[in-house]
Amino acid sequence: MTTEEEKAKTAVIQAAKELVKKGLTARTWGNISARISDTQFVITPSGLSYDTLTADKIVTVNICDVSYEGDVKPSSEAGIHADVYKLRPSVGAVIHTHQKAASAISVCPEGLLIESEKEKALLGNIVPCTAYGMPGTKELRKAVRKTVSDDPESRGFLLPRHGALLVGSDLKTTFLEAEALECVAEKKYHSIVRESGLARKRPPELTKALYIRIRRGCGTAHLIYAGGAATLCFSKKGEKLLPWLDDLSQIAGVNICCCDISDVKSMVRELQHKNAVLIKGYGALCTGNTREDALAVKMILEKGCMAALYGEKAADARPLNPIDARLQRFVYRYHYSKMS
Ligand SMILES: [Zn+2]
Repeated sequence: MTTEEEKAKTAVIQAAKELVKKGLTARTWGNISARISDTQFVITPSGLSYDTLTADKIVTVNICDVSYEGDVKPSSEAGIHADVYKLRPSVGAVIHTHQKAASAISVCPEGLLIESEKEKALLGNIVPCTAYGMPGTKELRKAVRKTVSDDPESRGFLLPRHGALLVGSDLKTTFLEAEALECVAEKKYHSIVRESGLARKRPPELTKALYIRIRRGCGTAHLIYAGGAATLCFSKKGEKLLPWLDDLSQIAGVNICCCDISDVKSMVRELQHKNAVLIKGYGALCTGNTREDALAVKMILEKGCMAALYGEKAADARPLNPIDARLQRFVYRYHYSKMS
């Protein structure tokens, strides 16, 4: 390994950990790469925890054909990174995030206009939204390639119902772009959704007896309460949460139902097939194989509720196609959940 390659791998590991720490992605979602030459870049692996990443798990990939050596598989979105390095010779780093506000507003195809000069310097005048493609597919790669070449000045992109992509001169700058994007996206979200008004009244606490009955009923050891502003706000509507985001349908389930607090039977039934259930006026309950899994569900549910609240008010926004959503849940449950 050359010194350049080694340095880049260490920087990618640091950035990956920072990404999780700052809440810009959860678990192994998202991916980070850094260019090491005109022909190669290094990227985070597919499905390995960021907590335990070591340099030998960071994969060196050839830009021309996304080929790599060794047993560790690069991120399933390595093709997108390769295309960006090919299309933009000045780009030295690429970060794909599942950040909260940017993902929530990505349900609307209009993109994001950047107004402040400080943020324009990082992101360009507009953060466009690409066409939709399911994660890890040729369609997504093609959609991103098209937008990256159509908008040569943009350095941030929304991947619809999924997340964001940032491209920059180096990892540090690209990280700042991700943070700036989240800031702008948060403002945009709050200009349309007035969560606080709806969520102001906190619900009474769920009783211990209810937890015990549900835990027994669905046989899960890890059952946690989710009462973030958007989750609480959405639960007050008493409606089913549609699959607005890719990771929501993968990790929580497709169509999260809303049950009445007295209807324990329905809550148990829902949690036997899904990892979350909304409780009218109370928020939600989330399950997982481990406490970390349940916490990830809680985080993704909050983001999904944000996307729904935003999507219901924004023009042209729509949730995922139900077939795509079900397919993603199936693939996630049977192929990736063990790798997390
Ligand atoms: Zn992703």
